[in-house]
Amino acid sequence: MIEVKEIKKSEATANSIFSQITSMKHEQVVFCYDHETGLKAIIAIHNTNLGPSLGGTRMWKYDNENDALTDVLRLSRGMTYKAAISGLNLGGGKAVIIGDSRKDKNEALIRSFGRYVNSLSGRYITAEDVGTSTKDMEYIAKETKHVTGLPVAMGGSGDPSPVTAYGVYMGMKASAKECWGNDSMNGKKVVVQGVGHVGESLVKFLTEEGAKVYVTDINQDALNHVASEFKAEIINPEKVYAMDVDVYAPCALGATLNTATINQLKCAIVAGSANNQLADEDVHGKMLMEKGILYAPDFLINAGGLINVYSELKGYNHADAMKQTEHIYDVTLDIFKKSKAEKITTQQAAMQIAEKRIYGK
Ligand code: NAD
Repeated sequence: MIEVKEIKKSEATANSIFSQITSMKHEQVVFCYDHETGLKAIIAIHNTNLGPSLGGTRMWKYDNENDALTDVLRLSRGMTYKAAISGLNLGGGKAVIIGDSRKDKNEALIRSFGRYVNSLSGRYITAEDVGTSTKDMEYIAKETKHVTGLPVAMGGSGDPSPVTAYGVYMGMKASAKECWGNDSMNGKKVVVQGVGHVGESLVKFLTEEGAKVYVTDINQDALNHVASEFKAEIINPEKVYAMDVDVYAPCALGATLNTATINQLKCAIVAGSANNQLADEDVHGKMLMEKGILYAPDFLINAGGLINVYSELKGYNHADAMKQTEHIYDVTLDIFKKSKAEKITTQQAAMQIAEKRIYGK
């Protein structure tokens, strides 16, 4: 009796994992465990129609394993759309390592993960993400050739963040053009939420053009550094949504565009680097449209980092990567045109264009 119950219980678990995988149409999900190093990782390959899947490896102390699975499934799907809308011949994939990157990370653990990447024979190519660095990519490169984001000294593309920020800046300028008829950010008020790797570079581009920039972060050191370096004004994290600004740039976390926050927004444009900004793609995309707030889809305007590592696959050329990232400006304007003509949200417009490339319809 106990055995039957246990079988039923394990079937239920298997079903729920498969229902998550099939609902987002993933091709393959690999659960990795290494007894020696204690590695626990998940690699998710969402779609390889346009090419091998590429996406970073995130190391994070998840509250539970289901959160890790949900994260890797959502992020890998996002990579498929990001590659497709950017015109890259890549599919979407992502990996998560469960653990605290500050305490649990070491060469042996990362190399055991690298062997799992290698076992996929190029169906998944990795790169850095939150909790991993170019140094970790060096360790992975000892085990597999399917790795990008290597240090510049090794012929790699190094830190992708400045290129990501440049793409966000291009997307923001295209949004300004759509809203106000010209793309100058001079004199515009912008609040940047999160002044980490991408946020800091974005603040630099904006202040150089004469924008009035407000910054917020939960890391006081990063905040003080960016504020003094670029003469930006510090604001409290909880004031960010209700601020009377022209642009809100989410550069910290996902899901910051939800019912509670959208109700407070006074800005004309949302354009930032964070992945999965809309808590619910349909509901909150529509809410923004109804409020008359122009939303620059995150997976389109934050693609500079992916464009940068893609360039590494062919022999890295920084100037080429920047030029291709600049093209985000034109694609963003095309998305706005389609959204207006078809009375759909900008998120829907961007997804439809990506899906046409991925699925041919
Ligand atoms: P980061 O970790 O360097 O910076 C994030 C910053 O946000 C940190 O300084 C952190 O303290 C701050 N933060 C966290 N919670 C906050 C909160 N509640 N309020 C205010 N600030 C908060 O990360 P990053 O590389 O700059 O990336 C920023 C975002 O852009 C992430 O969502 C990331 O997934 C996305 N992204 C990054 C890249 C890239 O090239 N680095 C590419 C695409 C997308």
